[in-house]
Amino acid sequence: TTHKNKLIAGNWKMNGSLSANTALVEALKQGVGNPACDVALCVPAPYLAQVQALVAGSPLALGAQDVSAHAQGAYTGEQSSVMLRDFGVHYAIVGHSERRQYHGETDETVAAKTAAALVNGITPIVCVGETLAQREAGQTEEVVKRQLAAVIHVNGHCISEIVVAYEPVWAIGTGRTATPEQAQTVHALLRAQLHHAASEHAAGIRILYGGSMNAANAAELLAQPDINGGLIGGASLKAPDFLQIIAAAR
Ligand code: PEP
Repeated sequence: TTHKNKLIAGNWKMNGSLSANTALVEALKQGVGNPACDVALCVPAPYLAQVQALVAGSPLALGAQDVSAHAQGAYTGEQSSVMLRDFGVHYAIVGHSERRQYHGETDETVAAKTAAALVNGITPIVCVGETLAQREAGQTEEVVKRQLAAVIHVNGHCISEIVVAYEPVWAIGTGRTATPEQAQTVHALLRAQLHHAASEHAAGIRILYGGSMNAANAAELLAQPDINGGLIGGASLKAPDFLQIIAAAR
């Protein structure tokens, strides 16, 4: 389908506490009304049960920030997609640049995690994006296409169920947002690649933009034809800001 709602996903990263989470989610529930877009909160693993209870019956869906490539067993420290389902998790961020950078995740890891999520009905939000050095070297297209290809080739049969997030690394947490034109250019490349791989599904696959999206710049980014939502870090921790971004996604 070409008419999926936009998706606004908050990535809390390693932030929060029982009391801060309660305050944030209560404020979001108060202000969110009946949103025109889908909304997800990707919370730290220890708080999944807490936030599952907080969002119950609201338009806020639950997400995780990572998922194991494995189903179960001797993988200390990992959380499987089956376990995430147990807590009502609908989305899992996969291959965030912080995990690629600090935890050695490769395109192969990302593909395996994507497959594991899909098998158990979790929608993976697969992150791709170039570093500043790669952009300046003219490698943006090559990098994002390689990162997306890893996922397409492993999961060609169910590619329609993924969400893609274009997150230029130089824009994450820096306050330096891609311009709407810069973002749209890359989103169009990714859309064309999806079209090539799965023409009947490509128009319905949501491609989110992430990287210093905030209340002030969200509307302009979300108005681009191939930007189907946002992955929001810092601004997702402030209820008024996150609510404004949600309101901008229609
Ligand atoms: C992110 O971590 O996915 C992100 C986009 O962060 P920020 O919005 O803080 O740049």
